[in-house]
Amino acid sequence: HWRCRSAYKLIEMDDKLRLLSPGMTVVDCGAAPGSWSQVAVDRTNSSCRDKNKPVGKVISVDLHGISPIEGSCIFSQSDFTSAETQSKILSCLGKGKANVVLSDMAPNATGVKHLDHDLISELCLSVLTFSTSVLSDGGAVVCKIWMGHNQNRLLSAMKTIFKNVKIMKPNASRGDSSEIFLVGRGYSSELKR
Ligand code: SAM
Repeated sequence: HWRCRSAYKLIEMDDKLRLLSPGMTVVDCGAAPGSWSQVAVDRTNSSCRDKNKPVGKVISVDLHGISPIEGSCIFSQSDFTSAETQSKILSCLGKGKANVVLSDMAPNATGVKHLDHDLISELCLSVLTFSTSVLSDGGAVVCKIWMGHNQNRLLSAMKTIFKNVKIMKPNASRGDSSEIFLVGRGYSSELKR
């Protein structure tokens, strides 16, 4: 019932790292057509499917349209990097914070490798910056990047705000050869200098 095969990438990473659990709040950036959000809804119980478990919250954002997903608050036609979109997300969070920020965002590839890498790196940076204002302590980020020269700098930046940083390459991602996921866990506002 997943909207696309990307679901298996998140499922694999989450089965290994146990990032998502009932009651959590998740922001999913670049969510269309919606399979990561479907997985997040399932695992946070945001659609209240299991009445005996805490109910989470999922916020899904994309430039394109996303058809409704029960248990998710959707912002379609929204550029994640814009101040307007980010304030919509913040107001949807209300007083609460997010436990996990996901990004499977990808720019339209030009085919020129270093240019595409620069474009996706910008998106990653925007996700990391946003994360510092919405994550609760102990929170996590999963962010897609196409391998390239900015990767180590982004990882170093992540190490200043997360206790645990690693690169994941799920089996389900083997086809997308240069795609990897930067994962930060144990967000700590105190690590920031
Ligand atoms: N994780 C999704 C799923 O499982 O259904 C697939 C995501 S798809 C690989 C990448 C998405 O990133 C595209 O839908 C694209 O519109 C979105 N995207 C790229 N740049 C964006 C931006 N600046 N703001 C919001 N979404 C963006």
